[in-house]
Amino acid sequence: MPENGRKVNCMNCPFCGKEMTKGFMGAGGFGLPAFLYWLDDAYFMQHTAVPAEKHKIIAAGGCVLKNLAGLTSTPNTFYACKDCGKLIGDIA
Ligand SMILES: [Zn+2]
Repeated sequence: MPENGRKVNCMNCPFCGKEMTKGFMGAGGFGLPAFLYWLDDAYFMQHTAVPAEKHKIIAAGGCVLKNLAGLTSTPNTFYACKDCGKLIGDIA
C-alpha cells in the first residue's frame, strides 16, 4: 500500500488483520428482492449489471446472504474478508 495516502478506500479486517476487499452490497432477485449480494469493485468495473441468479454471483467471486437486512435496492459499500468470512460496511 502506498504511503502517500492515495489508497484511502482500504480497510483491514479487525479479526485477522488482513486487507479487506472493497465492494458493494445490494438486494438481488428479479423484481422482488429475494436476497442480499456482495460483489467486489473489480466486478463492477467489467460489468454493468448484477447477475440475477445466486450461483452466478458466487461464481463471480461474490457472496449471497440468506436474509434481507433492511437495505434498499441501492448497493451500499461493504468490505469483505474472505479469509475469515466477515463483511463490514454501511447499512444506511
Ligand atoms: Zn479477516
